[in-house]
Amino acid sequence: MPIPQAKLTPEELLQSAVGLTGTVERLAAENVRLKARVKPVSVSVASGRGVAERWRTQYQHDGKWTRTAKDSGEVIYNALCDLGDNPDIEAVAKAIGNQSWSYLTCSGCNDYVTRAADFSDNYSDHEIKLCQACLEDGLGALTKTQ
Ligand SMILES: [Zn+2]
Repeated sequence: MPIPQAKLTPEELLQSAVGLTGTVERLAAENVRLKARVKPVSVSVASGRGVAERWRTQYQHDGKWTRTAKDSGEVIYNALCDLGDNPDIEAVAKAIGNQSWSYLTCSGCNDYVTRAADFSDNYSDHEIKLCQACLEDGLGALTKTQ
């Protein structure tokens, strides 16, 4: 039994081709728009790694150490070096006298935290890190206003 074939006029064929091209272009544009909107979110974890070297960069200039509120910069640097390559974050905080060098700072509550969702990107120095409590508060507020 022969398969019936739709007969299209050249005008109808052209219309179909134009329609398909338009659809492909619309989908491509939508794909670009979606990709531009989706920002990768990573998780940052507090770490004591590299703190000693950052400390030296901040407090040693031309071979001379700056004094900090707690102690001389050099005494603290040596204490940080004694903690090893990957020191415990609380040990770093004790050596320095505050948590700002080894903990993360939440952009929402300004607390020092050990883990945070990181919305920062490589194209700006604007840093956005949010702790779980702030993310949950924000989600709750958004949900309540729907
Ligand atoms: Zn927070």
